[in-house]
Amino acid sequence: MHDFKFKNGELYCESVKVSTIAKKAGTPFYLYSHHTLVDHFTKIKKAFAGVRPLICFAMKSNDNMAVLKTLVNQGAGFDIVSVGELKKALMVGADPQKIVFASVGKTEEEIKDAIRANILFFNVESLPELEEINRIAGSLKKKPKVALRINPDVEAATHAKIATGTLKNKFGIDLRTSRRLMKARATFPHVRFSGVHVHIGSQIITSAPFIKAVKRAIDFVDILRKDGVDLEFLDIGGGLGIIYKDEKPQTAQDFADAILPYLKKTGLKIVMEPGRFIAGNAGIFVTKALYLKDNGVRKFLIVDGGMNDLVRPSMYGAYHEIVPLKKTGTRKVKMDVVGPICESGDFFAKDRMLPVLKKGDLLAIMSAGAYGYVMSSNYNVRGRVPEVMVKGNKYAVTKPRETFNDLVRGEKIPKFI
Ligand SMILES: *Cc1c(COP(=O)(O)O)cnc(C)c1O
Repeated sequence: MHDFKFKNGELYCESVKVSTIAKKAGTPFYLYSHHTLVDHFTKIKKAFAGVRPLICFAMKSNDNMAVLKTLVNQGAGFDIVSVGELKKALMVGADPQKIVFASVGKTEEEIKDAIRANILFFNVESLPELEEINRIAGSLKKKPKVALRINPDVEAATHAKIATGTLKNKFGIDLRTSRRLMKARATFPHVRFSGVHVHIGSQIITSAPFIKAVKRAIDFVDILRKDGVDLEFLDIGGGLGIIYKDEKPQTAQDFADAILPYLKKTGLKIVMEPGRFIAGNAGIFVTKALYLKDNGVRKFLIVDGGMNDLVRPSMYGAYHEIVPLKKTGTRKVKMDVVGPICESGDFFAKDRMLPVLKKGDLLAIMSAGAYGYVMSSNYNVRGRVPEVMVKGNKYAVTKPRETFNDLVRGEKIPKFI
């Protein structure tokens, strides 16, 4: 559920008319609903209340500071994947003891900064990374906690680009190696082996693959116990799917009902890393119609937003619902909704039935709150768009549109040219 609803034929975010914001912020822009973020966070918290998990929002899905602060205020921690995310998390007042750090390619600088910041634990993705963390921790005279990210070799029915849980993927450590490392923990004296982590991919809409993966992780924890390894955390990752079109994803409650008994049995502190589930439907991308072009074969609605602003349709073939901000007549025509970028992959929808719009009409591309702005680029020398947050009847631009000066900052032509 979300708080983008029509009232008297006009789209509102909570109590603010979206077209009013468009006048202030200009188009295109991203818009987030504070209430929706809180609501989704609360849904997970309530569903999993039986194990009182630490909910670490996967910051890579949306790192807008107003979004992060909203979640910090709810008690969230963060799942981070870079030192940039670490710094942003600390800037919004996150408790370092609620930060977990995954990434297959942590650099020395990142490891140092995270140890100094005293994060909760590292999710370690390979033996050389473990050796590196151990070495750096030794040199800093610290003993950080690590969880091994196991690769459970579980297939999840999702887009290939967002599946991470099989041995074809670069993520995690296979079970045999993980066990060997845990047994050899004395050879890594500067880290504490504290947990097992598993994350098999994103936009997963049935609980079966999750359960399979978590069960593998739990079986693994049991084996480790027999090996004499005592752990503190089980981190079950993120990946909960949401509704973009007509998916029927498990609810947080369905997922919890299916998995809580297993989690409870472990006696471990449970960590979760939802991203999309919290932010996905809490944001929209607003764009303006520029031209309607009919080449005799197809109709194209050309809008001012492009794939550099929201890449999911071109990158993942993702479906996003598109609605005009103002309800118009019921007559609909089949068209492609495309951006101005010089790429055939620059589209938001293909063969979509939409009302006939005219120049200047505004559209909302729904479910754009996760993996939207964060994946945007300056392709075609286009500045990143503003991000706006609504709470009740208030709204504010939380990050301004990039100016041309932002785009050329630091760029120089060398003398030898
Ligand atoms: C991307 C990612 C997540 C979040 O995935 P969602 O599908 O957005 O919930 C969680 N954990 C890790 C390790 C990730 O890489």
